[in-house]
Amino acid sequence: MARNPKARAVSHPPLFTTFKPAGVAATKLATITLELDEYEAIRLADYEGLEHEEAAEMMGISRSTFTRLIERARKKMALMLVEGSKVVIDGGSVHFKENVYQCKACNHRFRARIHEEEKECPLCHSSELIDFAKGFGHGSCCHHTEEEGA
Ligand SMILES: [Zn+2]
Ligand SMILES: [Zn+2]
Repeated sequence: MARNPKARAVSHPPLFTTFKPAGVAATKLATITLELDEYEAIRLADYEGLEHEEAAEMMGISRSTFTRLIERARKKMALMLVEGSKVVIDGGSVHFKENVYQCKACNHRFRARIHEEEKECPLCHSSELIDFAKGFGHGSCCHHTEEEGA
């Protein structure tokens, strides 16, 4: 339990980082930042359908903290839908449990261990990979989260 107690565990990096309403010039849009822990709360509770208690445990936080987190995340999603804001997923005090890569040559997407950098695509052996955790400034820093396991 040496890690930063405020850092929350996020299963893997999101595949999409920016959302905006169609047909509106980007300059006219307000931007909302959905932090990675807020994204994970929505993914666990609303996409996977987990109970708050179970979702809180997966993120390494208390149930009451999870409830506040998902309320904040849903408020942001509501603002996006009603006011047509741009949403960027970024930031938050988090670490990832697993990484996701995508091969630029064959588009194969695969999960991988978070702290070991993958060098090539397992299908076509191309070394042109998109490292999703790295895109959020994570990777080797996430080591401890992974070891906590389930
Ligand atoms: Zn490939
Ligand atoms: Zn990290």
